[in-house]
Amino acid sequence: MKEKEYQFATKAIHAGYDPNKHQNSLTPPIYQTSTFTFPTVEHGANRFAGIDEGYIYSRLGNPTVTVLEERIAQLEGGEAALAFSSGMAAISAVLIGITKANDHIICSKGIYGCTFGLLQLLKEKYKIDHTFSELCSEEDILAQMKETTSCIFIETPMNPTMNLIDLEKVVSIAKERNIKVVVDNTFCSPYLQTPIKLGCDLVIHSGTKYIGGHGDVIAGLIVGYKNTINSLKKTTQKDIGGVISPFDAWLLLRGLKTLAVRMDRHCENAEKIAMKLKEHPKVKAIYYPKDPDHSQYQIMKKQMKNGGGLISFEVKGTFEDAVKFVNHLKLIPIAVSLGDAETLIQHPASMTHAVVPAHIRKEMGISDMLMRLSVGLEAWEDIWEDIQSALNHI
Ligand SMILES: *Cc1c(COP(=O)(O)O)cnc(C)c1O
Repeated sequence: MKEKEYQFATKAIHAGYDPNKHQNSLTPPIYQTSTFTFPTVEHGANRFAGIDEGYIYSRLGNPTVTVLEERIAQLEGGEAALAFSSGMAAISAVLIGITKANDHIICSKGIYGCTFGLLQLLKEKYKIDHTFSELCSEEDILAQMKETTSCIFIETPMNPTMNLIDLEKVVSIAKERNIKVVVDNTFCSPYLQTPIKLGCDLVIHSGTKYIGGHGDVIAGLIVGYKNTINSLKKTTQKDIGGVISPFDAWLLLRGLKTLAVRMDRHCENAEKIAMKLKEHPKVKAIYYPKDPDHSQYQIMKKQMKNGGGLISFEVKGTFEDAVKFVNHLKLIPIAVSLGDAETLIQHPASMTHAVVPAHIRKEMGISDMLMRLSVGLEAWEDIWEDIQSALNHI
């Protein structure tokens, strides 16, 4: 893209791609190739030496993937990016890449299940320890801090409780101690929240969710400073090898083109559904960052552009009532994942968090009646109609 600084919606369509360098193809071509040829041995030697920036082998870089990486870097306001075959490939590349044996990680209390699993593995196999924290105040953050703390890993909003963490506050404490702040920004997408602009070091995405946006791809992304990204590229990306395929990179590029309009609609629909749920007599509580009664509404206003597409809520009654409600939905499919055109619902106590013992679930704020709704792009009246008639079965 040219020098001019365009707005988000424009960058989401154009950034990182110059048709003149690709046979004037309007959309980025899919370079479906495993390897690249060198005209001579000397050319090959120069590419390996980094003197010539040409491509070598698709695990080390691919032109379609490069367009995606440049585009997401610009959207997050970072210097560089890397694309991976899944969100977990990206998270593991980061956590393995920036820590060493005997380090300590502070982690937000609500966290994606497989990230939780990865932290256990790092602890058991490589003595990389971790503690969970609400990260809600300076005292709380300092209380978790150890000599060996090298990283603070955050999800905000948290899954599935929708609690928020004040990123600027965490950054102000971490920066003076040289601790890296890493944010899993999957729930917001760069359209709603840009942690690097608030001083965070690395942003991770499950590209599977809002960025892909159509429920047809598994992918991951990392954005950060050039130094860190280059070092991850040469180590945990190259040698563990969870790279994205050129076709999946292309799907994310296509998804990104409509990210701004989709996010606006996700937010608009979610806000309407949240307010309807809040008034419904069979609903005990809702957890939505843009609900003025949400305990961290001020943090939402400070660091998010809008409320997002995810709502958690509790129905009144028992585990069985919750199950009955979900089973009576007709339009809304029961599925994990989020950020798709389709509204999706899942019941954490019997699905994503079923393996967590009931008393720990409770401590995490996950009751038997909690639902997580990813509000899609359908007409909001149809979404509400479906929810309302299922609630009548409780
Ligand atoms: C889905 C998800 C992940 C994992 O991403 P995959 O693409 O499924 O590997 C990580 N973090 C969050 C917040 C997610 O929602």
